[in-house]
Amino acid sequence: MLTIPGMKYIDEFRDPVLARKLLVKVRERSRQSVRFMEFCGGHTHAIFRYGLRQLLPPTVELRSGPGCPVCVTANVDLDRVIALANQPGVIITTFGDMIRVPGSHSSLQAAKAEGADVRIVYSTLDALQIARDHPDRAVIFLGVGFETTAPTVAASILAAEAEGLGNFYVLSLHKLTPPATRAILDAGEVRLAGIIGPGHVTTVIGSQAWQFLPREYAVPCAVTGFEPLDILQAVAEMVDMVESGQPAVVNTYPRSVRPEGNRTAVDVMHRVFEVREAEWRGLGRVPASGLALRPAYARFDAALAFPVELGPVREHSGCRCGDVLRGVVEPLDCPLFRRVCTPAHPIGPCMVSAEGACAAWYKYGDVDV
Ligand code: SF4
Repeated sequence: MLTIPGMKYIDEFRDPVLARKLLVKVRERSRQSVRFMEFCGGHTHAIFRYGLRQLLPPTVELRSGPGCPVCVTANVDLDRVIALANQPGVIITTFGDMIRVPGSHSSLQAAKAEGADVRIVYSTLDALQIARDHPDRAVIFLGVGFETTAPTVAASILAAEAEGLGNFYVLSLHKLTPPATRAILDAGEVRLAGIIGPGHVTTVIGSQAWQFLPREYAVPCAVTGFEPLDILQAVAEMVDMVESGQPAVVNTYPRSVRPEGNRTAVDVMHRVFEVREAEWRGLGRVPASGLALRPAYARFDAALAFPVELGPVREHSGCRCGDVLRGVVEPLDCPLFRRVCTPAHPIGPCMVSAEGACAAWYKYGDVDV
């Protein structure tokens, strides 16, 4: 394994001298043309922020994946969210990115402008407090996120149960990352030589969770953090594995990730949620890729407590978010990018979300379209 000497302060992970050394290693080792996918939108933004794409040799291409939970929320689920917001007496609590994402016909922001009570929260603790403060209202928390978010939402449900909080609900739209990665590889639409594993998710699920990549697909995986040296080290490891023909899972984020992950978080998640099929934007229905409340916690399930009629689902004309999320195209391939779709007037979720690939290209990409 290519190692970086022991470091503990954040600027050490941005050290230009060490970055250059890693880049030299990549350039010297890289012979085959490879495309690696960074699953996580946080990685996409870090790659753009530090200009890493431009530093890599032409043999190494990085491609964004589906790792933005807001972006992969399907329109049918967004329509359900907006329909719930329009129910009388309901307070919707959500993380901020969700509010501007357009569904088939509207957004939470538009619903709020028309009178729906939609509140941005910074944690599930805020949502619980709103439920305590408004015992006569139904407070629904939108559970949108990957394995990083789901344990905290599960913990909020356990807290509501312990408190006897009868007006707190969760709409679980949580998604699991390994099945989505598997779906992309199974589809075979985009040729991938390696996966940059999501650092935060893997802190929870553990690096062992990615062993299926080398074992079943002969695809190497480097789990890593969000600083430039983290990402360069992951790329260096994967180039090394490709060139040596020895795919494996390498953890270049040991300051956060353990092979077994965070068992406490995983146990809480599975105590409250059970695995089910889920609908992903771009990927469609993916088996065993979502989390539903277990029957023991059904009384907290907003989908059961508030059945709503949904109109026909409509996709945004011309928006290629689905293809971007599968890694089949890049944002520049979308005819609407920057011309019609901007952060101020987003057409699709990949431009809205702080983790979206289109937002990263718009913010950091030095492109002329
Ligand atoms: Fe969708 Fe806008 Fe991205 Fe095009 S640029 S794929 S319309 S979010």
